[in-house]
Amino acid sequence: MTNVRIGHYINGRSVTDSTAQTQTVTNPATGQITARVEMADKAGTEQAIAAADAALPGWQDTPPLARARVMFRYKALIEEHFEDIASLITREHGKVIEDARGELTRGLEVVEFACGAPQLLKGEHTPQVGRGVDGYTMLQSVGVCAGITPFNFPAMVPMWMFPVALICGNTFVLKPSEKDPSVPLLLAELMSQAGAPEGVFNVVNGGKESVDTLLADPRVEAISFVGSTPVAEYIYSTGCAHGTRVQALGGAKNHMVVMPDADMNQAVDSLMGAGYGSAGERCMAISVAVAVGDETADTLVESLRPRVEALRIGDGLAEQGLEMGPLVTREHLEKVRGYVELGVSEGAVAVVDGRQRSLDGDGFFLGGTLFDRVEPSMRIYQEEIFGPVLCVVRAPDYETALALVNQHEFGNGTAIFTRDGDTARQFTQDVRVGMVGVNVPIPVPMAFHSFGGWKRSIFGPLNVHGPDGVRFYTRKKAVTARWPKSVSAGSEFTMPTMK
Ligand code: NAD
Repeated sequence: MTNVRIGHYINGRSVTDSTAQTQTVTNPATGQITARVEMADKAGTEQAIAAADAALPGWQDTPPLARARVMFRYKALIEEHFEDIASLITREHGKVIEDARGELTRGLEVVEFACGAPQLLKGEHTPQVGRGVDGYTMLQSVGVCAGITPFNFPAMVPMWMFPVALICGNTFVLKPSEKDPSVPLLLAELMSQAGAPEGVFNVVNGGKESVDTLLADPRVEAISFVGSTPVAEYIYSTGCAHGTRVQALGGAKNHMVVMPDADMNQAVDSLMGAGYGSAGERCMAISVAVAVGDETADTLVESLRPRVEALRIGDGLAEQGLEMGPLVTREHLEKVRGYVELGVSEGAVAVVDGRQRSLDGDGFFLGGTLFDRVEPSMRIYQEEIFGPVLCVVRAPDYETALALVNQHEFGNGTAIFTRDGDTARQFTQDVRVGMVGVNVPIPVPMAFHSFGGWKRSIFGPLNVHGPDGVRFYTRKKAVTARWPKSVSAGSEFTMPTMK
């Protein structure tokens, strides 16, 4: 049994409470318990909120250029500690080390975006909106912001939020996933080293009690959430009921449509990476391949079969060049195994059954599963599995394929593989999904665009990072100003118009 204890990061220092309830943290590749994380209660969470609230006036007054300089130093520190952070991601999440590096790079890109604070916060100015009257719009900070994040990207998803929130002049309380809490704590320590004043960026570990405290506390003005759809919906409705600004991103079931004219080698390569990379634990993973025509489906399935059977699976810290690691916890492993069993009982054809793959050790490993002849009526099609399970659905034509994507409850990401520009263009126009790839399987927008899905993959109108991130973390204030000569023009009783 380990006696490593993981606490919180509040007011510029690590905080622990020996009386707090704890939860185990495991290395999913070995099954070993590596630490116990403290689960903050209401009072513990309020400490973090109070620290962020106290730091707010000073940070709001700090010029955007000075906030940007903190981000420039932060970028350098992340680069300096890059390998340590990536290893920590692999140790607690299980994804292979190359993938952990990719995650961190995508997070770092948001820090780079945030380095442009003075440019991003310039606002708008129109001289002479009327005679002798100027109009301008300022972007001001919102206040104390909170982020609640999932296990599957312990670095990148928090980094979608706090760099943008901070450069906009807000202070931040992050409540990361209790399953892999070490990376967010390291990210907070580095923010202090970069020069963020005490209390500007805090991390509180915990579960529902902590989240409910953040939702109800009147000092918290904005909440960003990323996680599963039922929790996203709960966060959105509860936060809104408290008058809090909320953006809540939920689950996914991303379809890749493969047209008969697609480059099949490219489509198969893409399906392997997008379906099984990170053991399918990505909100932008492809979990459904919609093959247009039986010939396309047969080619796909026969090409995928040997590659799924031969997936290189293992402990990402012990070996290089792996394709897939374990699932995050034993409970999640059992849940995904349950879905494979369900698929078989629902009548889908298990071309490769991941349960039959034998893997050594006590890690939470599961082989890749490939289902063919999946029907929209099946639960394995309707529900998010979040594991290495790819479903092939056969569609007779493009219209049926498009209707499948559009009728699904989720609308996070999708892709079309085709050589026909007209079909691709029509798809990008007509599909009811927030992020679309054309011959690109995981179309995650870059940091200077914004990330978000449609339908039940998001609650709230604004996406994360990029321009929407700046909008979410700022309030607009429109000023109309006149400096009149001392002669009064008299009272006006009509609606003011341009003169
Ligand atoms: P989760 O919803 O279980 O947990 C997310 C966060 O909410 C965690 O911090 C957790 O502690 C907290 N939480 C869990 N249950 C809660 C409850 N009842 N009340 C209040 N807070 C609660 O999600 P997860 O399993 O950590 O992550 C996987 C999910 O996240 C998948 O559904 C995946 O699609 C989704 N996800 C979505 C995106 C996106 O951008 N749309 C990105 C990454 C992950």
